[in-house]
Amino acid sequence: MHVQDIFQSSETTFSFEFFPPRSPEAVESLYQTIRELEPYQPHFVSVTYGAGGATRELTHDLVVRIKETTSLDPVPHLTCVCHKEHEITEILDRYARAGVSNILSLGGDPPKELAYRKEDDDFRHAADLVRFIKSFNGSGSHPDRRGFGIGVAGFPEGHPGTPNRLLELDYLKRKVDAGADYIVTQLFFDNRDFFDFRDRCELAAITVPIIAGIMPITSIGGMKRMAELAAGARFPARLLRSLQRCHDDPESVARVGVHYASEQCHDLLEHKVRGIHFYTLNRSDATRRIFESLGLKQARATTIQAA
Ligand SMILES: Cc1cc2nc3c(=O)[nH]c(=O)nc-3n(C[C@H](O)[C@H](O)[C@H](O)COP(=O)(O)OP(=O)(O)OC[C@H]3O[C@@H](n4cnc5c(N)ncnc54)[C@H](O)[C@@H]3O)c2cc1C
Repeated sequence: MHVQDIFQSSETTFSFEFFPPRSPEAVESLYQTIRELEPYQPHFVSVTYGAGGATRELTHDLVVRIKETTSLDPVPHLTCVCHKEHEITEILDRYARAGVSNILSLGGDPPKELAYRKEDDDFRHAADLVRFIKSFNGSGSHPDRRGFGIGVAGFPEGHPGTPNRLLELDYLKRKVDAGADYIVTQLFFDNRDFFDFRDRCELAAITVPIIAGIMPITSIGGMKRMAELAAGARFPARLLRSLQRCHDDPESVARVGVHYASEQCHDLLEHKVRGIHFYTLNRSDATRRIFESLGLKQARATTIQAA
C-alpha cells in the first residue's frame, strides 16, 4: 500500500526492520522471526541495504520473497553510496514490476570493506536520490500512478556528519521538499530528544509524518555494536544503571531492555507519535513482548475484524 494511504487510514503506524541474512541458517532464523511477527500485522516491514553487490541482491531477494510469500508489505532501503544513475533506474524498475509500493531513500553508510570514493557516486545526498525517485515516479513505470511512496531518515540527536544542527535541519527539509512522504528516525533512548526533534521539524515547516525508531536492548554486546552503528546515540544513565545491576545475567538484561523500550513506546503513544518503527535485529522476542505490553495485538485484530 502506498505510504500516503497507510497514513491516511491509520492514526499510528507500526513497522519492523529486518536486514538480509548472509548464511542459510540465518535465512531460516529470519523466516521463523517473520512467521512469528506476521500475526501482528505491521503496516509495513523494511529491509536494509548494504554496499556490497552480493548483499544488495540479498535485499532485493528478501523484499520480493516477503512480498510474494507473506501478507507483509516490504519497504526496501536504497542508498546513494556506490551507485550510478542507470543502476538505480534498474532497481526501481525491478521493484515497480514486483509491485513494491514504497522505498526508503538514504545516503547510506560508506562501505568498510570496499575501496570507496564519494565522488564516484552519481547521487551525493539522499535528497538527490529522492528527487530521482520522484522523476522515475513521473515516468509512469509504476503500476500506482503516484509511483513509489518515499521515506527518508531523520536523526533526533543529530547526524555525526553535520555538527551544525541548524544546517542539518535545513538539509532534512531539502529531502522533504524534494518529495519525501515521511521520515523514520534513528534509534534513540530518551524520548525528550524525539519530542524536541519533532518540535524543531514543525518550526522548520516539515509537516510529513515522523516515525520513531525504537531498538530494545537485548544484550550488552548488542548494545555496544549498536552504539558503534548508530554513532552519536546517547545512552541515558537511568538505562545504564539498570543494565549495570544485572550485566552478568543475560535474561535480566533482556528484561530490562524490553521494559525500557516498552516504557518509551507507551510515552510516545501518549504523545501522539505518528508511528513506531522497531529495529528487530531479525529477532521477534523483544518486539512481540513490547507489542503485547502495549495491547497492540487486540487493537489491530479488532480493527481488521471491523474493516
Ligand atoms: C531509519 C534508517 C535506516 C537506515 N538504513 C540504512 C541502510 O539500509 N543502509 C545503509 O547503508 N545505511 C542505512 N542507514 C544509515 C544512513 O544511511 C547513514 O546514517 C547516512 O550517513 C545518513 O543517511 P541519510 O539518508 O540521512 O543521508 P543524507 O541525507 O545524504 O545525509 C548524510 C549527511 O550529509 C549531510 N547533508 C545532507 N544534505 C547535504 C547537503 N546538501 N550539503 C552538505 N551536507 C548535506 C547530512 O546532514 C548528513 O550529515 C539508515 C539510517 C536510518 C536512520
